[in-house]
Amino acid sequence: MTTTTEAAPETRSFEADVAKLLHLMVHSVYSDKDVFLRELISNAADACEKLRYEGLSDASLLGDDGQPRITVTLDPKSRRLTIEDNGIGMSEAELADALGTIARSGTKAFMDRIAGAKDAEGSQLIGQFGVGFYSAFMVADQVDVFSRRAGADSAATWTSDGLGTYTIRPVELAEAPARGTRVVLHLKEEAAGYTEDYTIERTIKTQSGHVPVPIFLKDAQG
Ligand code: ADP
Ligand code: MG
Repeated sequence: MTTTTEAAPETRSFEADVAKLLHLMVHSVYSDKDVFLRELISNAADACEKLRYEGLSDASLLGDDGQPRITVTLDPKSRRLTIEDNGIGMSEAELADALGTIARSGTKAFMDRIAGAKDAEGSQLIGQFGVGFYSAFMVADQVDVFSRRAGADSAATWTSDGLGTYTIRPVELAEAPARGTRVVLHLKEEAAGYTEDYTIERTIKTQSGHVPVPIFLKDAQG
C-alpha cells in the first residue's frame, strides 16, 4: 500500500533585493513588456543546454527524450500563457534558490540604472543583469512554476503574486513536466493580448529569433 503525504506548502519571503526589484519592474514606466517572453524562452533554452551538457557524462538523464524542445501554450479563455521546456529542471531546493534570491551581485547597480533607463536600454539591462525571470511579473499577477529535475523522482511547484512572498510545495509527478520546467503566467487584464497567436509569433520572431532550441506554439483548446 502507498500513502501520500500532503506536505504543507511553505511560504517564504523574497530576499529584500528581489522584493525591491519586483516592485521596480512592475511600477516602472517601462512599456516594452515583450522582453518577458525573451527572458523566459532564454531560460528554457539555457535549461536545455544544461541538460545536453550534463547528458554528455550521464546519458540516463536524457532518457528516451533526447530532443530539446520549448512549447508555448496560449489559453485566451483563462488568460494564461505557458512556457514549458524539457531541459534540466529544478529540484525544490533549486526552485527556492533560483527564484527567491538574486544570485548575482550588482543588483543595486541594476536598480539604479533601470530606474533612470529609457525603454530600449531597460530591456537590455534586464537580460544583462540576470534578473530575467522576474520580468514575468510585468505581465502576470501570478506565476506558477512546475518543475522536475532530470533524473529525479519528485517534482515541486513554486508560486507567487510577485508581491513579497512565494510558496513552494512538492507536487504529484503528473502535475509537472516529465522532465524540465513549466512556467504558467496568469496574465494581467491589460496583457491579455499575449494569448493571441500573431502577437506571440511576432514577439518570438523579433525577440527570440536566434534561440537554438525549436519553439512550438500551441492553443490550449486544441
Ligand atoms: P539568469 O537566467 O540570468 O540566471 P533569470 O532570472 O532569468 O537569471 O533566472 C534565474 C535562475 O532561475 C536561472 O539561473 C536558473 O537557475 C533558474 N531558472 C529559470 N528558469 C528556468 C528553467 N526554465 N529551467 C531551469 N532553471 C531555470
Ligand atoms: Mg535568464
